[in-house]
Amino acid sequence: MNAPSAEQRLNPSCILLYGRLLGLPAELLGRVRLFPRDRNWLHAPWYGDAPGGAMVLAEHIYLSRTLYHAPQGRDRTLHLSWLLLMAHELVHVRQARSLSPGPLRPLRFGVWAGLRYARSFLRHGRRAYAEAAFEREAESGRDALKELLTRTGGIHPQHPIVAWCMEDRQEELQQWLAAHMPG
Ligand SMILES: [Zn+2]
Repeated sequence: MNAPSAEQRLNPSCILLYGRLLGLPAELLGRVRLFPRDRNWLHAPWYGDAPGGAMVLAEHIYLSRTLYHAPQGRDRTLHLSWLLLMAHELVHVRQARSLSPGPLRPLRFGVWAGLRYARSFLRHGRRAYAEAAFEREAESGRDALKELLTRTGGIHPQHPIVAWCMEDRQEELQQWLAAHMPG
């Protein structure tokens, strides 16, 4: 069993932001658990280099050590990387909803993603990861956050929503979202 201290959840401000941005219910976002990657028994090809990436098995997101610890640190550049990465990974969480629930769902999602990755490899070779349809869909989540940041001051670590999400300042974030993402 995982020790409680070895996993993280999304804080309420992050749930607010991604719920609005990606159209995901708060209940689902509340079930998301983050783990450091060395707890994952799969050798995934998609972690990448520093600061690293992540992989998703249903509601379980495995992050590189650097990004896993980013929310506890003070590095706003890492915080921004974390927020952008999550916008991608949480689309995978949305994709996993189509799979039947239960304790095997993380494994099912691994198989689901693996098959799509393999299919993309046959068509795209080395570009399999970037070109896989389910990855492009996930990338649209990151693009949505980039678009929001771009039209409200730019993609930089000093954008106010970076601090609000990391410090869980829900009221400020809520007011800002009401002004900038109405509807
Ligand atoms: Zn992905």
